[in-house]
Amino acid sequence: GQCSSVCPTGAIVEHSEWRRVVDALENKTKVMVIQTAPSVRVSIGEELGLAPGTVETGQMVSAQRALGFDYVFDANFSADLTIMEEGTELLQRLAAHWQREEVHSHHPASAIARAAAASSLNGAADTNVVMAAPAGAEAAAAGEHAHGEGHGHAPGPLPMFTSCCPAWINLVEKSYPELIPHLSSCKSPQMMMGALVKHYWAGKMGLKPEDVCLVGVMPCTAKKHETERAEFRSAGGAYDCDMVITTREFGHILRYKKIPMASLAPSEFDNPLGQGTGAAVLFGATGGVMEAALRTAYELSTGEPLPGLELGAVRGTKGIKEAAVKLPVNPTTVKAGTAGKEIRVAVASGIGNARHLLQRMQAGEVHYDFVEVMACPGGCIGGGGQPKTHDPEAVLKRMGAIYQIDKDAPLRRSHENESIQRIYADFFGQPGGELAHKLLHTHYTDHSVDTQPTARDLLEGSGGVS
Ligand code: SF4
Repeated sequence: GQCSSVCPTGAIVEHSEWRRVVDALENKTKVMVIQTAPSVRVSIGEELGLAPGTVETGQMVSAQRALGFDYVFDANFSADLTIMEEGTELLQRLAAHWQREEVHSHHPASAIARAAAASSLNGAADTNVVMAAPAGAEAAAAGEHAHGEGHGHAPGPLPMFTSCCPAWINLVEKSYPELIPHLSSCKSPQMMMGALVKHYWAGKMGLKPEDVCLVGVMPCTAKKHETERAEFRSAGGAYDCDMVITTREFGHILRYKKIPMASLAPSEFDNPLGQGTGAAVLFGATGGVMEAALRTAYELSTGEPLPGLELGAVRGTKGIKEAAVKLPVNPTTVKAGTAGKEIRVAVASGIGNARHLLQRMQAGEVHYDFVEVMACPGGCIGGGGQPKTHDPEAVLKRMGAIYQIDKDAPLRRSHENESIQRIYADFFGQPGGELAHKLLHTHYTDHSVDTQPTARDLLEGSGGVS
């Protein structure tokens, strides 16, 4: 169901936030910064009357400058950052799980064997950007309760679920609270950028967080509500992300301000928060987070690139997809317990498909290590804030454009992003480290008792109703 073509919800809950953005640009009391979701670059042209699947990234950047934004950053950068953190988290959870298996099958109660396994994992990281050693693996292997909140950093349980779709997060918190420890503790790319702009970049620029207004162009209204979560605000109440507009609202502003986006000369995002790889843009389509995460997790844990960089099994618009990725028996980088192991993954898009997949998992009919869920059919390219269209193929065409951008990208793996490598070297230290946990990870709350899912929860992704 290409919901964006028929679903009226986006219009109902879409406040006139575009007005607030225009006011902020006209009054200019703050430094104006903008970030754009991966999926928007393949749909903003369509919103302005071009054919579905037209890619206008450089023109979009120029249009954002023409509107008066002082800094134009890219959520693709924070998508790559998400992959570094989420890939690390996945490897930590897998390592703890495999160690536990090992311990139970060969060396019951052998603390020495566990310690040896843990230290060889520690010593094996020799890639350019180092995957963090699973500090809590031994504790988890010893059977201690592991949680996904990222405070003690003990690896959480498998399967791990992606956390970048806020409509999915709301569904878990209200209807499946037992899955909370399974959610990746990573913030979404939008919120990682918010944390970086307000608590890293602003300081470097000699600005206070409240001197900066960060606007996001996002595929749905769920992304607006995500910014209102208490954990994404400073003690004083300031937001990490100040305003969010949808692709349609962004198009509306461009028309209102008479910015002829398509005829502008293309320009580049600002750095350091503007570089993104092909892997990052995949976030815009269902299966993309999975593919991007596996490219990096596979390579950083084995020292070898994922064979067949394009993971066909998780591509396309099918509502539920599965794949199994086998790690090499003799990997270049030998990490204890990884040789010959298999990572079983699943991808669901659309709330109905997600519920169906969860039912099968909870009934024990299927078993996975890593599961991606997006609330909208097709992923964010099918989001409720995307252009309304009568073309039944529109989502497919947007998806094709996503794959083409990845294919043409000079760098296609998140860990190859030089700006990402630099931010770890200069600031974060290593993925999954103390500072990364402080800024880039979050926690979730069981809302099953106080609130039932509202119509808005089910509708705001808008994909959920088709
Ligand atoms: Fe928003 Fe839909 Fe993307 Fe989820 S899948 S982040 S609801 S557009």
